[in-house]
Amino acid sequence: MQKWSWIRQGYKGKLKVSWLWCLFLLFAIYTNTTKTLCYIFLMLSVHEGMHVLAGYIFHYPVEKIIIYPFGVCAQMEYIGYGNIAKELLIVVAGPSVHLLFPYFFRWLAAVSVISYPYMEYLQMLNMSIFIFNILPIYPLDGGRIIQCLAHSVLPFRKAQISTLLISVINLYLLFYYRFLSGLNGWIILVFLGFQIIVGFRQLTLAQISFYHYRYLHPVKGRDKLNKGDDLYRARHNIMWRKNGWMDEHQWLALHFHRKRKDMKNTDPMI
Ligand SMILES: [Zn+2]
Repeated sequence: MQKWSWIRQGYKGKLKVSWLWCLFLLFAIYTNTTKTLCYIFLMLSVHEGMHVLAGYIFHYPVEKIIIYPFGVCAQMEYIGYGNIAKELLIVVAGPSVHLLFPYFFRWLAAVSVISYPYMEYLQMLNMSIFIFNILPIYPLDGGRIIQCLAHSVLPFRKAQISTLLISVINLYLLFYYRFLSGLNGWIILVFLGFQIIVGFRQLTLAQISFYHYRYLHPVKGRDKLNKGDDLYRARHNIMWRKNGWMDEHQWLALHFHRKRKDMKNTDPMI
């Protein structure tokens, strides 16, 4: 029992198996590609597993794990609100495994588990997955790296908007230069476009969640004298008010107090 206690502490959510497995099994049997799809599943699961492992090391609880046919997807609480250096390592941990897979496939070929031409095919697939993941488009890993960099120099909301605008430009370039082609390419482009739209729509929600996280987890570090109306995620903010400077924790307490008052004034039912 003792040895599993860390799993219970780090993983508070649910394990789900996606309904896409039904489609996947039909597709795999029909196209006779079960073996290759299993290798893709392995690559993507190890990729995601490294995100989770790095998240566990830095105490980011896993909210939910979904097992898709194309890999395991873990949703972590508080990601995007905490320490930027730690989150950069969590993001980089996933794609970095694709630099090791070529050696693994070479070893499989050396011990005759797979043929050398099939090894080259798997290495090509692995490289495609790696390049796709590091594209600077949110919510891909490359986009999350851009997000971390933006948060290290800009206030929260501006950093979020900059990340999404950079993602829009890069998505347009992908489309313009036909980087992704065929039906699969279109599905991926539409999926990424949809994620960016959701990102814009949830800007205010993300900002409130960040403030809430920050109120519950006060940070120490380099002070930032801030005359604006938004917090810098990378710094400990000293906010300017009419009557002088104020610590960010106090500023956040006032912020939430004011919001509660506004809600009471606008909704007579509360
Ligand atoms: Zn990843």
